[in-house]
Amino acid sequence: MNAAPILKKNNNFEINDLNRLFCKEKDHENNEIIGICIDDLCDIKNKLLCYKCIFRLHKQHNMIELSEIKENLNKELENYNKNIDYINKFENDFNSIEIDFRNKFNEIKKNFIKCFDENLDKYIKHIKNEFKDIINNNNIKSNINFQDLLTQINNNNNENVSKIICNYLNKKPSKENNLFEIKTNLYNKINENINNFIIKQKEFYENKIKDDFQQLFDNNKYLDFEWDTKTYGAYNFLYDISQKNIARKSKENGTITVIKSKNILQKNKIYSVSFIINNCYGGDYQVGFGNDLQAGSCWLKEGPTYYIKEDGIFNNGHLLNGNGLKNNDLIKFIIDMIKKKFKVFINDYEIYEGNFYIDKEIYILAAIRNCNNSITVKEFYEINNY
Ligand SMILES: [Zn+2]
Ligand SMILES: [Zn+2]
Repeated sequence: MNAAPILKKNNNFEINDLNRLFCKEKDHENNEIIGICIDDLCDIKNKLLCYKCIFRLHKQHNMIELSEIKENLNKELENYNKNIDYINKFENDFNSIEIDFRNKFNEIKKNFIKCFDENLDKYIKHIKNEFKDIINNNNIKSNINFQDLLTQINNNNNENVSKIICNYLNKKPSKENNLFEIKTNLYNKINENINNFIIKQKEFYENKIKDDFQQLFDNNKYLDFEWDTKTYGAYNFLYDISQKNIARKSKENGTITVIKSKNILQKNKIYSVSFIINNCYGGDYQVGFGNDLQAGSCWLKEGPTYYIKEDGIFNNGHLLNGNGLKNNDLIKFIIDMIKKKFKVFINDYEIYEGNFYIDKEIYILAAIRNCNNSITVKEFYEINNY
């Protein structure tokens, strides 16, 4: 990973190269250039000036001395070289950062494999024990006691020998395949479990890893959220937003009052916005998105808005879904402005997916009834996929 510099410093030009300029005017030969004419009204073609030009052809023209130009160009050149140094260093820096990142991810992989192996070992031990148990519980019983038979033969006790044999003959023979069957059944059962496990795990891990990585991408597009400080129609501004992402109702206790995001959502983006609702002081409250046209005192009932409140998800006053929010819930909306779809999550659990129909400008909206309750936008970011 030996990165070659992608940009080369300008090593060819030197400020002193400017000293090699001489005047081209007739009879000015061999005169050094000492300035440049920048006069708007000057219509002389030659702008590079020697002392003669300055006093004659460009008399009283607006000019800059060559020394000043040299100083400016020198700064420019230094800056340019510095930036190139910086960019080249960045490439090298990033290579070491990349190694560090990859090491961290490899650590995760290693731990994952270790954890996986440990559990696999445990499971194999468990299966072995299960086999052993089955064998122990079905120990090989025979309908004849061979040890006893041998003893009686050794004792020459023909009576007992014949008794044992007759007794055996009267009984049904032992089931030969019993143990084999048990073993086969157990094996089939284990095999089935493992196959199901593999299918499930494959799907789970592939999706999980993709999702988790996606979050890394998402976090890179974190946006600053700001509640608007503007007021609606007849209402004064009734919130305190001493922190730009926290709206705390501060006036007119008991009137449900809307607040909106400072910026509109852009049409070609997908947003994720999560709210934390602090409703310690009672009363109802809503969070969602939509147009602010109808946002007077009761946007929950009117206007092109989609929102969640304590008794469900609503659009324009119509119930869409009966899952409501509670105090201190983490509410997340994913708003896909491209496909005009949205999802609602409560505490990271998806509860609703649907389309939205709003032609007008869309804002993030919230409404609080009682003073001192607040709504915090915890995270606001643009996502690529969801
Ligand atoms: Zn000249
Ligand atoms: Zn001039």
